Amino acid sequence: MDIEIATIGGYEEVGRQMTAVRAGDDIVIFDMGLNLSKVLIHDNIQTEGMHSLDLIDMGAIPDDRVMSDLEGDVKAIVPTHGHLDHIGAISKLGHRYDAPVVATPFTCELVEEEVDDEQKFGFDNEIIRMEAGETMSIGDSGQVELEFVNVTHSIIQAINPVLHTPEGAVVYGLDKRMDHTPVIGDPIDMKRFREIGREGNGVLCYIEDCTNANKKGRTPSENVAREHLRDTLYSMEDYDGGIVATTFASHIARVKSLIEFARDIGREPILLGRSMEKYSGTAKRMGVDFPSDVDMVGYRRSIDQTLERIMNDGKENFLPVVTGHQGEPRALLTRMARGETPYQLDNGDKVIFSARVIPEPTNEGQRYQSEKLLGMQGARVYSDIHVSGHLCQEGHYEMLDALQPQHIIPAHQDLSGFSGYVDLASNQGYTLGRDIHVTTNGNIIELV
Ligand SMILES: [Zn+2]
Repeated sequence: MDIEIATIGGYEEVGRQMTAVRAGDDIVIFDMGLNLSKVLIHDNIQTEGMHSLDLIDMGAIPDDRVMSDLEGDVKAIVPTHGHLDHIGAISKLGHRYDAPVVATPFTCELVEEEVDDEQKFGFDNEIIRMEAGETMSIGDSGQVELEFVNVTHSIIQAINPVLHTPEGAVVYGLDKRMDHTPVIGDPIDMKRFREIGREGNGVLCYIEDCTNANKKGRTPSENVAREHLRDTLYSMEDYDGGIVATTFASHIARVKSLIEFARDIGREPILLGRSMEKYSGTAKRMGVDFPSDVDMVGYRRSIDQTLERIMNDGKENFLPVVTGHQGEPRALLTRMARGETPYQLDNGDKVIFSARVIPEPTNEGQRYQSEKLLGMQGARVYSDIHVSGHLCQEGHYEMLDALQPQHIIPAHQDLSGFSGYVDLASNQGYTLGRDIHVTTNGNIIELV
């Protein structure tokens, strides 16, 4: 059976991920994402009403025109998890393919919200919910099967899809870290990865998340960030002024920890901001392991009213969890820092960033400005209470050891970002150009 891999997006950047695997006549697409930084750099852009070709020209969504060089039919579009760099282009490109979206339930909910907001294109592809551990037959040959293996990441219900073919398995490894004590959900299923590495024809190809491939050591568990957060908030138990926290709105486990520790120190947590309400609201509605009795406010006018109430009732009784961890100019924390909201920061008030700055010049500049403005109001800033959602080098070593793939394709980075992974794999006996395929966007790699 012919096996080809089209590396469509996310091979020159972190963002707009998209990869297609052809097995005989059947094609499965993994991820269809957005490169948010290409959108945010333009002021006031509303992608909902934009045409896909304009977004392709901006570098915001994958250039999927290479798909016409693959001879076969797309049978499924499989987003691995709900981050926008993996699902954000489905509303723009998905309708071009006569295929269902297959994903875990939480990811499906987020995809549905994305396509509901879309104004330019009609999207009526079927959306199929499939849990980690389940499989689905692909095409009519009876020889190709899709499996979801449970992984751990900075959003709940992440999976690594595996396409089983007669030539061996193709394992799509974006995005994950190895968490054996996650705060929500099951640990990463390393047992299943080791089995896949040893059953049948083994692993033909492994496509790896190289976000942190240049970082040594091992990425800690979400529990480490949770304990760091607990320690930080407990240290503020006797403080009788304002405490404000910010984190990734999609990081449901982290938001859960913030809510729990706010209550432990006698404060009422309130989630504020449109994306806070979106992700946490979805988690709450779906009945995942998340506090169901927390207030969420999404619209600006209601947010300002809530902040007024907080000031009237005494800000020492509350812990607002807000948007703006990257210093985004229009996010709530940045508005607070500029003194544009009813919430007054006083000397000694605490601001907790449970997030790391995404290493990208726009974010770094905006976050610097936000912290400076907060400091000018007298706030004390606690940054980097966070662990990454991506594997570092020892995790990459463990994955190679578990899967023992014949071919590897580094992804989710640019060329310099791949270098650490190429070094590591070379030390494990792989050779660049023979079985390590460093590639760019828009290429097709023929494996069989
Ligand atoms: Zn991700």
